[in-house]
Amino acid sequence: MSHDSHDDYPVQKSDAEWRAQLDPMQYQVARHAATERAFTGKYWDHWDAGRYNCIGCGTPLFAAETKFDAGCGWPSYYEPVNAEVIERVVDRSHGMVRVEVRCNNCGSHLGHVFPDGPEPTGERFCINSAAIDFSPK
Ligand SMILES: [Zn+2]
Repeated sequence: MSHDSHDDYPVQKSDAEWRAQLDPMQYQVARHAATERAFTGKYWDHWDAGRYNCIGCGTPLFAAETKFDAGCGWPSYYEPVNAEVIERVVDRSHGMVRVEVRCNNCGSHLGHVFPDGPEPTGERFCINSAAIDFSPK
C-alpha cells in the first residue's frame, strides 16, 4: 500500500494538532522529514528489551531484537515488526536517490532504508530517534 499524499493516511491531524502533540525536534523530523544530527538522538546507543513505536500514532514499528549497531549514530534495525506498518517512498532530495520510510498509519517520516544491512534481511532501517518512542518489555 502506498499513499500519494499526506491526505491518504488513516490518522489525520492538522498542522496545529501535530505541533501541539510533538516537541519541536519530533515535529521537524516526523512531519517535515528533517534528520537529527548523528549521535544526538536518545536511541542510537539504547539496547534495552522492548519495542519502538511511532511518535505520531503509537503504532509498534521496530522490535529491540532487530536493532543493531551500524556505527552511523542513528538507531538501526534490520526489519520492521511487519511489512505493513512501514511505507517506502522513493526520495530524490539532496542529489541522491534513497528510499524514505514512513509510518503507514499516520505518514510520519521515520528515516531511510538502505540495502547494506546484516542478515537475515540485508536491509538497514536508519531511523531518527525523534520519530520513535521506546516502550520497555
Ligand atoms: Zn504513525
